[in-house]
Amino acid sequence: MSDSNANDLMSLCKRRGFIWPSFELYGGVAGMYDYGPLGCSLRNNIVEVWRSIYKGREGFVEIDSETVNPREVFKASGHVDEFADLLTYCTKCQAPFRADHLVKDFYENADVLTAKQLEEAFVEHNIKCPDCGGDLGPVEEFNLMFKTHIGPGSARVGYLRPETAQGIFVNFPNLYRYNREKMPLGVIQTGRSYRNEIAPRQGMIRMREFNQMEVELFVDPEDKDWPRFHEIENETLDLIPNTTCEPVTMTVKEAVEKGIIANRVLAYFVYTTKQLLTTVGIDPARLRFREHLQDEMAHYAADCWDAEVLLSYGWTEIVGIADRGCWDLSRHAQFSGADLTHFKRFDEPREMEVERIRAKHKALGPAFKAKAKAIATAMESMDPSAVKDGKLIVNVDGEDIELTDEYFEVATVREKVAGERVVPHVIEPSHGLDRIFYSVLEHAYSHDEKEDYTVLRLAPAVAPIKVGVFPLMEKDGLDDMAKDIYSKVHSHRVEAYYDGSGTIGKRYARMDEVGTPWCITVDYDSLPGGAAEGTVTIRDRDTTEQKRVPVDRIAEIVDDLLAGKPFADL
Ligand code: AMP
Repeated sequence: MSDSNANDLMSLCKRRGFIWPSFELYGGVAGMYDYGPLGCSLRNNIVEVWRSIYKGREGFVEIDSETVNPREVFKASGHVDEFADLLTYCTKCQAPFRADHLVKDFYENADVLTAKQLEEAFVEHNIKCPDCGGDLGPVEEFNLMFKTHIGPGSARVGYLRPETAQGIFVNFPNLYRYNREKMPLGVIQTGRSYRNEIAPRQGMIRMREFNQMEVELFVDPEDKDWPRFHEIENETLDLIPNTTCEPVTMTVKEAVEKGIIANRVLAYFVYTTKQLLTTVGIDPARLRFREHLQDEMAHYAADCWDAEVLLSYGWTEIVGIADRGCWDLSRHAQFSGADLTHFKRFDEPREMEVERIRAKHKALGPAFKAKAKAIATAMESMDPSAVKDGKLIVNVDGEDIELTDEYFEVATVREKVAGERVVPHVIEPSHGLDRIFYSVLEHAYSHDEKEDYTVLRLAPAVAPIKVGVFPLMEKDGLDDMAKDIYSKVHSHRVEAYYDGSGTIGKRYARMDEVGTPWCITVDYDSLPGGAAEGTVTIRDRDTTEQKRVPVDRIAEIVDDLLAGKPFADL
């Protein structure tokens, strides 16, 4: 899409109530947008398609966790120490810039450069302030999290979450129990995330408050398969593997067999992402999956792919799909001290070498007298991971007793064991909802220069208004009949829009511009005694074809169309 079309689309979005730059009354704030009525419906419809796939088809569960989190959460996740972009200010006009963005034309992957390398790059390529031409200052780290305090005073530091995922990880014990301690365990969450982006200049692509739809699938590290894999294994994906960095199209099965996508469960969810995106209206020809380069991938990730779409901004990441290994749960276990493992039962008990706590009876007896036996029993039932700094806290009759290794040892023994505790691995498809929303609009936008006519070819599943209902004239009972049709069709699932003003052509144009797939018109032939009594015309947005259909079947016809029945078959 050309820049001028992208500008026209943004003005359409503003004029027709899809999105509005926030706080315009007070001069606006970069990187913040409000969703208007049509935008809200479109966005909710995208969320519903996502839910229908993950919750409906795959049986995942949904949660809704807090947006303000205590510091401990993001200390464990690594965000406090590492979630930073590199910032530079113009020494003349003081404008802030993301340092890597200023050199992106000179490097394949500028966001891996260090502060020092970026400063050197400014000199080498003679890079100046894009606003005023002034010299750029030193490059420094800027943490992207919004900081706050929980409660009065400054004792409890909190942050607005920069991603929804942590809310799922910290609820792992609750979710695991809810899932009756079984793997795999799939969880979804949608909601707001916050990143104090340095200089957001790319519309809805880089927002400071944005919406995510995150999916965390906890799996047995040794079972990275998915029961439905065979259903999609012969479908194709457009991939850019990090080994060749060249586009290649292959089946999902081939991608796994050639070791291009790390495992079957990851590949399944890369394909699921394609299904979701194309269902909501992303053009498959402008969609590809790019594997993170080795130096771009998080050190703990087994593999990571971005769904990228071609927009007026160039190829843009809208979803990230990663196999995050055991990183998330291990870190939260380490920082919280909680047990975040899964007990994996073997098919049959296995003889294995295991570590066990053994009581030193000779030392316990004299020191604890009558209690010694109870302490020995309690400590031998505990997992060796309970030993911290050579000490063990044992609870006997409600009393915590701290014991040094004078009273116990950790011994390696051979035993028949029923199973073992493993830290689940996480497969994470993380969707940027606003980016998907904007991409859907760009891919749906079509403008006929000659006719100066705009149509948003939104997929019916996500179109905010499904049917426009018009009386040819607002008189002679045409309006009553149209209003009656409107109330029959309009429901929480099928949004209808009644429009009685202006020429019919203008009314079609208004509906085409906001992506309404079908319009129903009541004319004089529809009325009792008319030439086509009891019928109305229905018009298809994309072909502009019109058909007469019986008015008493209209709700059913709209349902059929929404279910995918071709207009030509009505
Ligand atoms: P990340 O955790 O950075 O991989 O982000 C996950 C997804 O959130 C990305 O694929 C984007 O679609 C989206 N996202 C990240 N940052 C922003 C932002 N500042 N504004 C809008 N969407 C974003």
